[in-house]
Amino acid sequence: MHESCGIFGVYTPGQDTARLVFFALFALQHRGQECAGIAVTDGTTIDVRAAPGLVSQVFDEETLATLKGYAAIGHTNYSAAGSRRPPTPEPILASSGQWTAAVSHNGNITNSELLRRELEDAGSHFDTESDAEVVAELIVTSPGNTWKEKVPNALRRLQGAYSLAILTPDCLIVARDPMGVRPLCIGSLDGGLVVASESCALAHIGADFVRDVKPGEALFTGSEVGSIHQERTVRRASCVFEYIYFARPDSSIEGRLVYDARLAMGAQLARQYPVDADVVVGVPDSATAAAIGYARASGIPYREGLLKNRYVGRTFISPNQRLRDVGVKMKFNPLSPLIKGKRLVVVDDSIVRGTTTPHVVKLLRQAGAAEVHMRVCAPPLRHPCPLGVDMASEWELIAARLSVPEIREYLGVDSLGYSSIPGLIKSVGLPRDILCLACVDGDYPLPVQMGLSGLAVER
Ligand code: SF4
Repeated sequence: MHESCGIFGVYTPGQDTARLVFFALFALQHRGQECAGIAVTDGTTIDVRAAPGLVSQVFDEETLATLKGYAAIGHTNYSAAGSRRPPTPEPILASSGQWTAAVSHNGNITNSELLRRELEDAGSHFDTESDAEVVAELIVTSPGNTWKEKVPNALRRLQGAYSLAILTPDCLIVARDPMGVRPLCIGSLDGGLVVASESCALAHIGADFVRDVKPGEALFTGSEVGSIHQERTVRRASCVFEYIYFARPDSSIEGRLVYDARLAMGAQLARQYPVDADVVVGVPDSATAAAIGYARASGIPYREGLLKNRYVGRTFISPNQRLRDVGVKMKFNPLSPLIKGKRLVVVDDSIVRGTTTPHVVKLLRQAGAAEVHMRVCAPPLRHPCPLGVDMASEWELIAARLSVPEIREYLGVDSLGYSSIPGLIKSVGLPRDILCLACVDGDYPLPVQMGLSGLAVER
């Protein structure tokens, strides 16, 4: 399951902004590991460098030295949700007449195809298939004589999820969709403005956290200043998976530290599914805090029984069982002396397709585990995500096809317990009516249609 992006922006006259973005992107690398990019402005010209690769592969000293300017935005990404094509590096630049803007985007614009066709009919030309290019083109071609007129006119046309950092030659603009699906927060640094997908990126560059960008808000700094709010015609829908899996545990979203939410998820699972066991193990890294929470609440000791090789990316899709096992072995290694002969509680963040978990269970059994009791922070995932998470289509989601006892058997575990939806909401600690839980309860915050090929958003 992939979140599609991390975004960052900074406006600090007098600072080496490209280097600040470079450091901040390292803190957001977990949100996207396929492309990285930086756009910087010196007040007249926007210079963009964006390419496939990790931040450390795309940028070196030589490249950074050429990116000069007092405001900059950056981006890390995976492929767009549902896309089988290679991802498009961002930020993306668009120009129309006197107007030029670069855009970094996180989310999924559900009416982007419609907007693209409209813009093409009006004379726009597109080089990529990305939503960011649609947003950039829409902004520079929208009516208005200032950015504060043009940007709201563009945002009003967008449907779906978007957190945006927009760089013009003399202005940094940040915006979040009215549902507030993807996180976005602002901070201050030496009197300037900093914006990031997650607060952990602010801490890394020494910026002070100020607040989350409000759903429907657009903030301007530079030649134009102030904040504009879109009227909300949709409900709030902050993605619950940020707390379960995507965000780093040292980030706070909507005032809730992700680490604390995960501890509470583990404790909740311990209350919901107690079991006689010797050791609690987390599937690293996203389930580590939840495993600690389970251990504390149950009194069963936590052990680092499973280690992760952090330098392996996706579990590659291999043509046969042996190579699939090798793929999981490259990623995880059980610490046999801590596991051998023990009854394990294994805490994981979620089970999506159910393709990796059986291999993890097999590894633990081969390392000598006497029993494996799986506990899962996310309730069964039965519905695909239309809001920017490359999850799976409905028929690929194991919980959409099999009952919990059938999944237990398929995974080869001695017992299986998923968090309940009320238990998850309680652990996140935010009101139900500001959260999106559509992938577990099917209650989409925007109208969708289910088709044979999956999910389509109603236009
Ligand atoms: S459907 Fe699930 S993954 Fe998608 S935004 Fe909603 S909670 Fe997040």
